Amino acid sequence: MRKQNPITKLMKAEKINQEFNTDWFEPSEYELRLYYGLLNKYVFRGMLTKPKLELLRLRGAWGIFTGDYYGRPTISMTNRFPTKQFFVMALAHEMVHQHQWDIIGPKQLKEGKKPSINHGPTFYNWRDTLSKFGIPLTAKY
Ligand SMILES: [Zn+2]
Repeated sequence: MRKQNPITKLMKAEKINQEFNTDWFEPSEYELRLYYGLLNKYVFRGMLTKPKLELLRLRGAWGIFTGDYYGRPTISMTNRFPTKQFFVMALAHEMVHQHQWDIIGPKQLKEGKKPSINHGPTFYNWRDTLSKFGIPLTAKY
């Protein structure tokens, strides 16, 4: 058996749905960069270029991806999650949007279309890959 990668190991460590969990996970800037790097390495095979990463108190969203035609895109994550696994799941979701922007977007631009950041087929194409790492992919988070 191959040694488990750190993402799968984390995702299988605890249950994600901790409804009665009162102990929130508050990622540090370091952890945000760390898990972005690990997800990019293991799940996205190094395809993504590090965007601007920021932590701030978001209302009504766990994370937001913002494309930029002239510079690096931004992934903003809220600063409090039910669990560390939830944080990794929400970060992976935004990274799927980054893939839509960085990898699929330029092809769409060539065809005269706008890059589409959405929860359509190019989003759900990642579902099987993510599930191999124990990361659920849903439109919600
Ligand atoms: Zn989304």
